[in-house]
Amino acid sequence: MIPFDEYPGGGRTLLGPVKGANCRHEYGLQFMRKTGQTRCAYCSADFARSYETWLTMALDHVVPVGVCTELGIPAEWQEDITNKVLACAACNSFRNRYKPPADVSCPKTQDDFFDLRDRIFAERRKAILERHDSERAFFNKLQPLFDPLRRKYPELLPEAPERLIHDFRTVAELAGVRLAGEDISCEVLSAPHTPTSLPAGKMAVYVFLWGDRCLKVGKAGLNSGARYLSQHYNPQSCQSNLAKSLIEKGHLIDVTGLKGSNVKAWIKQKTTRINYLLDQGVGVHMLSLFEAFAQCCLKPKFEGFEAQA
Ligand SMILES: [Zn+2]
Repeated sequence: MIPFDEYPGGGRTLLGPVKGANCRHEYGLQFMRKTGQTRCAYCSADFARSYETWLTMALDHVVPVGVCTELGIPAEWQEDITNKVLACAACNSFRNRYKPPADVSCPKTQDDFFDLRDRIFAERRKAILERHDSERAFFNKLQPLFDPLRRKYPELLPEAPERLIHDFRTVAELAGVRLAGEDISCEVLSAPHTPTSLPAGKMAVYVFLWGDRCLKVGKAGLNSGARYLSQHYNPQSCQSNLAKSLIEKGHLIDVTGLKGSNVKAWIKQKTTRINYLLDQGVGVHMLSLFEAFAQCCLKPKFEGFEAQA
């Protein structure tokens, strides 16, 4: 039976106990190393995947301690790895107060014990998954309440730039990249602002905000210092830039009268600029992913790819 089949000896020979006081640092980690398991045995949440999931890791007695005591099952069997599974905090809380069926008696042999373990695991997993169904139904009913709260980035709030980074770490983890603390940082240049140069060894995603509206999200690779520093302020600088968008399409945000002679001053005077700096070591794919993520969250008025619309 999964997951026991994957334990050494098919989960039907004693493997000894695991030791220590801390699950994530000691006994749970030993358990992972000895069995090769990384997932919740009930809902399959993967503790190796993300920090937040890892925090929920617990190790669960399949035949519960209370049942072992009641039946007189030897402590050696009760505490053996073969009587343990990884469980997330939710599954671990759902299985509480399990009562074994009345026909269960103390197993006479190890094989009998493993049969009992498999039977109890199957019953408990069924009950836990049913509980997940009802919890999920409840959660789904809450969506109309959550929808207006979700993915809102009130850009004027001082914590918003940090929150975008925090959320992006999860996106990066899903893409298989773990970002260290120093890999990504931000600087906020409040209006009126003076543009800064792209630091050596850094790539950037930059954001122009006007009041609570996002005008532009763009990216600059290692060799895009000019784009980062000056191009968006000068309409003639290149094919597509913020200054040009404001002159040609300013009416979309009720801004009129901007032209070559005053647009640079308007951008510096009126907009706040947020620079997200990424270490070059994270690679250009992460840069592109972060730009797309910021665009999805902030919904800039000028996307810079009207031709593709
Ligand atoms: Zn679980």
